[in-house]
Amino acid sequence: MARDSRYDVLFEPVRIGPVTAPNRFYQVPHASGMTNALPRVRAAFRETKAEGGWGVVCTGACSIDESSDDAPLPFATLWDRNDIHAHALTTEAAHRHGALAGVELWHGGASVMNRSSRLPPLSPSGIPWMATHVGFMGNLRPRTMDRADIREVLRWQAEGARKARTAGFDIVYVYAGMGYLGYEFLLPEYNHRTDEYGGPIENRVRFVREMLDVTRDAVGKDCGVALRVSLEELRGRPGRHHPSEAHELVAQLSDHADLFDVKMDSSPTDCSPSRFSGEGSHEPVIDFVKTLTDKPVVGVGRFTSPDMMVSQIRRGVLDFIGGARPSIADPFLPNKIREGRIEEIRECIGCNICISSWHDGVPVRCTQNPTAGEEWRRGWHPERVAPATRPGKVLVVGGGPAGLECALTSARQGHEVTIVDAGTSWGGRLTFEKTLPGLAAWNRVADYRLGRLNDMPNVSLYLDSRLGVDDIIEFAPDHLVLATGARWTRSLYSSMEIPVGKLEHENVFTPDDIAAGRLPEGPTLVFDFDNYYYGGVLTEHLASRGIEVAYVTPAGQASAWTIMTNELPLVHRALARRNVPVTTLHRLKDFDGDTATLAHLFTGEETKVACRAVLIVGLRAPRTELEEAIAARRGEIDAAGIRSLVTIGDALAPGAIAHAVHSGHLAARELGRSGSRAHYLRDTPITDREPAFDRAEAAE
Ligand code: ADP
Ligand code: SF4
Repeated sequence: MARDSRYDVLFEPVRIGPVTAPNRFYQVPHASGMTNALPRVRAAFRETKAEGGWGVVCTGACSIDESSDDAPLPFATLWDRNDIHAHALTTEAAHRHGALAGVELWHGGASVMNRSSRLPPLSPSGIPWMATHVGFMGNLRPRTMDRADIREVLRWQAEGARKARTAGFDIVYVYAGMGYLGYEFLLPEYNHRTDEYGGPIENRVRFVREMLDVTRDAVGKDCGVALRVSLEELRGRPGRHHPSEAHELVAQLSDHADLFDVKMDSSPTDCSPSRFSGEGSHEPVIDFVKTLTDKPVVGVGRFTSPDMMVSQIRRGVLDFIGGARPSIADPFLPNKIREGRIEEIRECIGCNICISSWHDGVPVRCTQNPTAGEEWRRGWHPERVAPATRPGKVLVVGGGPAGLECALTSARQGHEVTIVDAGTSWGGRLTFEKTLPGLAAWNRVADYRLGRLNDMPNVSLYLDSRLGVDDIIEFAPDHLVLATGARWTRSLYSSMEIPVGKLEHENVFTPDDIAAGRLPEGPTLVFDFDNYYYGGVLTEHLASRGIEVAYVTPAGQASAWTIMTNELPLVHRALARRNVPVTTLHRLKDFDGDTATLAHLFTGEETKVACRAVLIVGLRAPRTELEEAIAARRGEIDAAGIRSLVTIGDALAPGAIAHAVHSGHLAARELGRSGSRAHYLRDTPITDREPAFDRAEAAE
């Protein structure tokens, strides 16, 4: 199908200093969890985006010195020749598809804890970042940089830039965002200096300007010099010559950078979850940048709609459509727009599971794109799948995320696929969850897959069909896939931090009751030891229905795991806005219809709370009835010619939607495979040079 000419503007080339991007699709630097220990995994991950049409493909944060060490969070390095060789795999991969390769050179300043290098962190004035969440806390406070330290950092940046050029990068970054060193110089809260680097904004930008200048001196003839800067705080501070200090900064640095990559200041606002903000949420902060510079500007906003992208360009907000999450969810987004296949875009749902991967210290995972991070180690491609060697009849029972993904991927392999669901609409758990506050975009998981399945001649879809063993035997597929999901239990929680027992009372509810439309009456206590989004969002849901709700969890925070997805501060804000009292470090012991008995997790001290109902959001258990019935009639199943039987998704092991989608994809790729499951390849660091050589040598 031809592309709509409205979108032509997105495919114009744009100059960035001495280099030219082939189009306006710019994969901004983003964490991938792929350190230099996984160079092939990383190169293939980035290459897939270049292949999918992104005109610029960047690395994540890439440390310029041992004093910028974020361990155990995964970060890349550009310290020595082995690093150069490792990164060269990525630049070569990007160049194979005509994309430019960018590197986000990075010094973490006071926000890294140097747990591995054990060096005191550097900072403008010794002000530490004192995070409240265990995973980010550290005990080592930074030291104040003197002028010699500043000169050292400038030297590392220049050396890093030269190493980057040797590795083949076309765009080299100076990073002044998200609490890292350059940003710390910009903000008076971090920068208390009384020398020429502190005080008025002209002085506070000096360090960043010098970083840009040394980068330009080092590689400016060959590479574009990009400034990545957070503008949220500065935009709120009045300037002297311009409306804000953010304006002052752009005006003062315009001649020093070839590109402005502008963003917000903290992960929850920069990579905000769709639950709490929509597409294009950065615009009010960054909309002025192009009025003060003629250099190209890139920004993000979870852009997946080509009309929104065109509007950003036409209205003079951005020159490049920046994408991190949209490029993970669909590496082929640009090509799909180019080829007029907009309805095939696998839109990011804004769940931030990808970000949780970085917090977990592992390669990126994506809810929408199960192939993300699997390009090299499993050989998975987001758009292509090898034809089945022996196409057959596949029956998928259950049309939730796991079943839909398995049906789609097996249909793409050329199997004759039938998918059935007992419900009256597709999406499994999503049919209800999409109606909860802020979760509408999550249904893109079902929408994308259904859209594709409906277009395929080798697929039959049946709703309102609860299948039993007799139906399956009569249908006699070659391959049977059970994707029947899980159910919530009334399990309580023990001080050993495991589920225990079962709370029996007619006014004890589970999320399945709420999904079925059975709402509690009167004051309700939500007891959440699932710890992800569901307890928090159901609390919001009940409160929005006018039910008086109290939230209790044995964890230290409400929806504690959502710290991993940038949602936690916003969950607390949402509960506070609905006047929900939050009690942490308590477990529910009992409920008699009028009173819930809580116990402190560590002291055991009991508290009574008056309430008429309890909603337990705790343990899920697989729905195994069908699997068990099949096992009981195994002989008849074999006689019907059913060659393979596999259980996937929540029916196998209850998890997040990302787990279900990955499970469905894996099952389809391995359909009919005999023997044990296929192993993935293990990547190894590049060590083709002696580790003992002089690091400075690499910078020449
Ligand atoms: P997952 O996240 O693993 O995809 P879900 O709970 O979202 O799991 O979806 C499971 C789906 O399976 C539900 O829509 C449910 O209606 C359907 N289902 C469960 N048992 C049967 C059955 N025997 N026949 C048809 N559909 C079923
Ligand atoms: Fe988008 Fe979620 Fe995938 Fe991240 S994990 S790219 S937020 S769909």
